[in-house]
Amino acid sequence: MEIVLASSNEHKVKEINEIVSGKGIKFILPPKGFDPIESGDTFSENSYIKAFDAWKLTKTWTLADDSGLCVDALDGKPGIYSARYAETPQKRIDRVLNELNGIKDRDARFVCYMTLISPDGEIAYSCAGICEGSITTKQRGTNGFGYDPIFLIKNSDKTMAELSENKKNEISHRSRALNQVVEFLEKHILK
Ligand code: IMP
Repeated sequence: MEIVLASSNEHKVKEINEIVSGKGIKFILPPKGFDPIESGDTFSENSYIKAFDAWKLTKTWTLADDSGLCVDALDGKPGIYSARYAETPQKRIDRVLNELNGIKDRDARFVCYMTLISPDGEIAYSCAGICEGSITTKQRGTNGFGYDPIFLIKNSDKTMAELSENKKNEISHRSRALNQVVEFLEKHILK
């Protein structure tokens, strides 16, 4: 089955298609005109806003994700502001490192919420995927994107940016959420 992924990020569609390869599901980008205003206060609200915006254009199965980095000592920030925490990816990393300067508690998690909307416009399924870790004092690794170079995976000596794409896909917040969506589709829709 084809599902519209409510995103304008081609890299994300590619990554998500890799995670579901062989499952009979193919994600495609929404048509022109997809331009949601992420005005929600939570990941879950923003994922619904994105999914519904894509549904209005397509009236077919749509899935949206909303994700970000939540740092305990920063009261959950950057959270829903992860993509807008500073002007560039490097400045966003620097801001988090600066804000944690001298702070011992560096626990953090990547969070991903997903909302699946059925062709009738109703929420068919929603879920969250979480990947626990902590924030390093210096960035390490060049793979991935966003905050990956400063995210030390729990029970590992590697940052997310030191993992291959395949390894990241085994443990990431996004793959954990997506696996639940796939399980739902396999059980109720693809039967
Ligand atoms: P979005 O929900 O995919 O737009 O992600 C929002 C922001 O959260 C991104 O721009 C990144 O800054 C951050 N983020 C989300 N997922 C990841 C990840 O897997 N690695 C690093 N940063 C991420």
